[in-house]
Amino acid sequence: TDRIITGERRPEDVDAALRPKTLDDFVGQRAARENLRVFIDAAKGRGDALDHVLFFGPPGLGKTTLAQIIAREMGVGFRATSGPVIAKSGDLAALLTNLEDGDVLFIDEIHRLNPAVEEVLYPAMEDRALDLMIGEGPSARSVRIDLPKFTLVGATTRQGLLTTPLRDRFGIPVRLNFYTVEELEKVVRRAARLLGLALAEDGATEVARRSRGTPRIAGRLLRRVRDFAQAAGAAVVDAKVADASLTRMEVDALGLDAMDRRYLNMIADIYKGGPVGVETLAAGLSEPRDTIEEVIEPYLIQLGLIARTARGRCLNGRGWTHLGLAPPPGSGQ
Ligand code: ADP
Repeated sequence: TDRIITGERRPEDVDAALRPKTLDDFVGQRAARENLRVFIDAAKGRGDALDHVLFFGPPGLGKTTLAQIIAREMGVGFRATSGPVIAKSGDLAALLTNLEDGDVLFIDEIHRLNPAVEEVLYPAMEDRALDLMIGEGPSARSVRIDLPKFTLVGATTRQGLLTTPLRDRFGIPVRLNFYTVEELEKVVRRAARLLGLALAEDGATEVARRSRGTPRIAGRLLRRVRDFAQAAGAAVVDAKVADASLTRMEVDALGLDAMDRRYLNMIADIYKGGPVGVETLAAGLSEPRDTIEEVIEPYLIQLGLIARTARGRCLNGRGWTHLGLAPPPGSGQ
């Protein structure tokens, strides 16, 4: 998608510059941070590798960042790849045998591993061993190779997308949630400092409120607001400058963009508020079902604008209000 407001990574995101480097630097996700602190310190105290960690939550909430922070806090090497990139079990075997003791191997989109590759991962995670088949036919035999004591850090948008055997092999599952406005204000102020941008208090609030609970979006919106401010010759980015810029980018007061509004309007106009099935919506919007479920809906649900029910998606009272419409009579809203 080419939405400014998507949590998914886009080519122009220069994430590296804004990435917090330590747990203390990482804003928000307090429960996750505090637990990770305990597990990291305990593993270090024992001179052990950290248990395997699974991060799950919508795109742009800090899964990759936390994986890097784990490696840094543990004082070990960091290797990154992603599920769809590992085509064959041999590719994974090569990656694993090149690790050193304690290293973090980060696999993004781990739910998209192909099943043959996933099979190799089970003994690697559990016994830190590789079972390789040598030869074919009756003379084929299996050889076991010991692997270094590595830590696998997996990331996925939803825990439920993983197969049970894979999910069960993560000792430390960590859910990441959308950030509060206060947390995003901190993220935005920190980013402004790093970008050398003069940002007023109310400017930070305005950008934070419209960032969909997502640090990646906050960073991206801030960069575009900076461009608008520069073009307008504004010395300081305050709420007025931020609002004007975000409105020009069609990001509304709740942080919704044209795509979100098309989604909401489709349920309202065509399906009278629902329920309507996700496949129907996906077809109507010409978007993959995954994008609807992983990228568009989570934040709309978080805001209480829509509900996922067994019979399909429904527009809530707040959803009607946000569209400036009245729910149809007899809809129970
Ligand atoms: P994910 O892997 O979940 O898609 P990333 O870890 O790549 O997300 O984070 C996306 C961007 O948001 C990065 O630029 C990162 O610096 C920033 N970011 C994420 N979480 C935080 C945070 N807690 N504090 C500050 N910046 C953050």
